[in-house]
Amino acid sequence: MGLCEREKCTGCGVCFAVCSHDAISFVYDDLGFRYPVINASRCVDCGLCSLKCPSVNPVSIEERNDCYLSWAIDDRIHYDSASGGLSYIMCRRIIESGGFAVGCIWDENFNAVMGVIDNVHDLRKTIGSKYVQSYINDSVWKEIKSRLGSGQHGIIIGLPCQIAAIKSYTNNHRNLILCDLLCHGGCSPRCFSDHITYLKRKKRLQKITGIRFRGGKYNCQFTLWNGDKLLYKDWQYTDSYFYSFMKHGLFHESCYQCQYAKANRVSDITIADYWGIDSEFVKNKHTMNGTNLVVLHSGKGQSIFNEIRHMVEAYERPYEEAVAGNDTLRAPTDAPSDREQILKSISQYGFEYTIKKDPVNRRYIFDARKAFLKAAFRKYIPNIFVKLIKHVLRS
Ligand SMILES: Cc1cc2nc3c(=O)[nH]c(=O)nc-3n(C[C@H](O)[C@H](O)[C@H](O)COP(=O)(O)OP(=O)(O)OC[C@H]3O[C@@H](n4cnc5c(N)ncnc54)[C@H](O)[C@@H]3O)c2cc1C
Ligand code: SF4
Ligand code: SF4
Ligand code: SF4
Repeated sequence: MGLCEREKCTGCGVCFAVCSHDAISFVYDDLGFRYPVINASRCVDCGLCSLKCPSVNPVSIEERNDCYLSWAIDDRIHYDSASGGLSYIMCRRIIESGGFAVGCIWDENFNAVMGVIDNVHDLRKTIGSKYVQSYINDSVWKEIKSRLGSGQHGIIIGLPCQIAAIKSYTNNHRNLILCDLLCHGGCSPRCFSDHITYLKRKKRLQKITGIRFRGGKYNCQFTLWNGDKLLYKDWQYTDSYFYSFMKHGLFHESCYQCQYAKANRVSDITIADYWGIDSEFVKNKHTMNGTNLVVLHSGKGQSIFNEIRHMVEAYERPYEEAVAGNDTLRAPTDAPSDREQILKSISQYGFEYTIKKDPVNRRYIFDARKAFLKAAFRKYIPNIFVKLIKHVLRS
């Protein structure tokens, strides 16, 4: 029995979850991405793993796309979250009505893992995008099935390949709301953990309790925390890991041909950053902390949106506007032309050296500084001066 082709395997883990003969385990590549392997001596050739694999048998696509620009009315939730805060609002609504939520949290070693949550206190751990490939582990598959089996209702918010996996695993269970994020790529868990180890050593950090990329005071900066104490911060353009994520070079191989990067989705509801926002909304002070793109695809999506409608600002928008503004609604991310060289250098010299020092990748650093200066210039030099400087340069 064979699984899907390696370059199409997202590591979602459904094959592992459905095999009742304990015949599947995972191996990890140099970037820390997992791939299933079959133990032939245990496999009885039942074909279930292949049948349930979303890369072999794609799950159904929803064609309804009711599009909104939205954000949480509660300023604190809006401020802390990556974009508009709708993830937290939806999950809280489900938990408060007796259900469960599945979202991404850090485990004790700062692996991004999907966890089942049924209390509002723990739900805070899901806030903020973790820009690293996350995985659904063994116990979580079982817990989702058992909770649905006992009649509970729930919501899962995750990457589209994970949502497809859950849809296949649960046969699109009527009590489970599937919410996908827009996703341009899952970044290397191995480079992420190397980066944390490097920073710990370099900055002599004893204890890290939190890591953030998005939301709060340091939105779009890479920050390390011990409780409320900020230990380290660096910009998305200069922190080597965050910058690598933004440059798209260290994604899972399957991301460069992602079957979910298109306008019609596998979920009940899609949420993301609202890129390409109309200028009428840019002037609104509430959009300063980010806004959510929300796209409803099914009755389940519609019903959770109706339930939280009084807790959010929402404006109906043409879906074409969102599709035009967000690349991942149109096509998968392109792999940078020097990806192979970077991967070779990482396996030879390690992540930190490759990004910062290897001459092959000096362009990385040059591009990073240029992008950083450009952003700082835009942020701190008022428009009137920019126009004046441009005028002087032209004349
Ligand atoms: C790897 C990744 C790539 C993304 N790429 C894009 C993009 O190209 N364009 C775009 O518009 N938006 C992208 N997003 C989505 C965006 O960053 C926000 O998560 C989204 O707008 C939701 O914002 P929020 O304020 O509602 O959520 P927040 O409160 O910030 O919560 C985020 C939700 O996402 C889940 N989550 C966080 N990290 C992960 C992870 N690693 N794996 C699975 N689930 C996770 C959490 O469980 C939580 O429910 C990406 C997110 C991730 C994690
Ligand atoms: S089910 Fe997921 S992990 Fe298994 S082979 Fe298919 S894509 Fe890979
Ligand atoms: S064919 Fe059946 S027994 Fe063999 S690995 Fe797949 S699910 Fe397990
Ligand atoms: S780009 Fe596609 S395959 Fe890659 S993590 Fe995102 S949804 Fe999964």
